[in-house]
Amino acid sequence: MTLQKIGVVGAGLMGHGIAQVSAQAGHPTVVREVSSEALAKGLGMIQKFLKGGVEKGKVTQEAMDKTLANLKGTTEIKDLADCDLVIEAVSESAALKQEIFGALEQACKPATLFASNTSSLSITELSTFAKRPDRFLGLHFFNPVQLMKLVEVVRTINTSDAAVQAASDWCRAVGKTVVTVGDSTGFVVNRLLVPYMLDAIRAYEQGLASRDDIDNAMKLGCGYPMGPLFLGDYVGLDTTYFIAQIMFDEFREPRFAPPPLLKRMVLAGRHGRKSGRGFYDWSTNPPS
Ligand code: NAD
Repeated sequence: MTLQKIGVVGAGLMGHGIAQVSAQAGHPTVVREVSSEALAKGLGMIQKFLKGGVEKGKVTQEAMDKTLANLKGTTEIKDLADCDLVIEAVSESAALKQEIFGALEQACKPATLFASNTSSLSITELSTFAKRPDRFLGLHFFNPVQLMKLVEVVRTINTSDAAVQAASDWCRAVGKTVVTVGDSTGFVVNRLLVPYMLDAIRAYEQGLASRDDIDNAMKLGCGYPMGPLFLGDYVGLDTTYFIAQIMFDEFREPRFAPPPLLKRMVLAGRHGRKSGRGFYDWSTNPPS
C-alpha cells in the first residue's frame, strides 16, 4: 500500500503544518477547512513559514513554489474522495470529530486510510465514527510540525499491520521519526510528560522552591531546553488542564490529577503564552 495523495482536515496550528510537510515531501495534498476565511488563514501560515525559510536561505524559491503547487485548499469534504490517507486535525472535540469521520466515510474511497491527530481522545472510540476499523489509526504530530521530528503512530486492536506499515512509511517519507504505540490516553509522550509538569506545579504550589528555581533546576540539572512551568505556559495551561483531566478520568491515579493551583489559574484566564499571562508575564520579551 503506497500513500500518494493526502488529505488534511483542519488547517489550524497542527493541520497547516501537517499539510506543509506532506506537500514539501512531494505529495499532492488537499486541505479542508470549515470556511474560506479559516482556509486562507491556514494557507497563509504555510506561505509565511516558507517565505521566512527563503529569506533565511533555508528553503529555495523553487522548493517553495513546488510545495505550494502540491497544495490545494477546499471547503468541500468531497474533494478528499480519492485521497489515500486523510489526517483529521480539527479542534479537540469528540462530537466534531464524529461529524467529520461520518462525512469522510461517505465521501472517501474504501481503501482510504483515516488518521486522527488527537492528543487525548481514544483512537478506538474515534474509529467507531467510521466503518473501516482496520484502516483507522492515530498519527500524533508535535507542535510546530515543521520542526518537531516525532510522530506517535497509534494502533488500536483493530488496526491492520498493513495500515500501520503504510502510515509509518509515509511519516518517514515526510521526514519524521516514528514510534508505534497502543491506544492509551496520552500515548507515550504525554503519559510521561504530563505528570512531570503537574508535579512541578505541585512543588511550586507547596512552596518547595520559587518559579525560577524550579525551572532552572530542570534546565541545568537535566539539560532540558526549558523548565516545566515555562513549558506549561508555552503549551497552554488550559490545554494542560484539559489533558490532565482526561488522563485522570482514564487512569484514576493521583499523579494525573490537576493541582488546584492549575485549575485556579485557568479559571482566572491565566492560560500562559496565548493569553499573555501564566506563570510568566508574556507581554515582555523575554517573558518575565
Ligand atoms: P486549532 O484550533 O489550531 O485548529 C483546529 C482547526 O480546525 C481550526 O482551524 C478550525 O477552523 C478547524 N475546523 C473546525 N471544524 C472544522 C471542520 N468541520 N472542517 C474542517 N476544519 C475544521 O487546533 P490544533 O492545535 O491544530 O489542534 C488540532 C488537533 O491536533 C486536536 O485534536 C489537538 O488535540 C491535536 N494536537 C494539538 C497539538 C498542539 O500542540 N496544539 C499537538 C498535537 C496534537
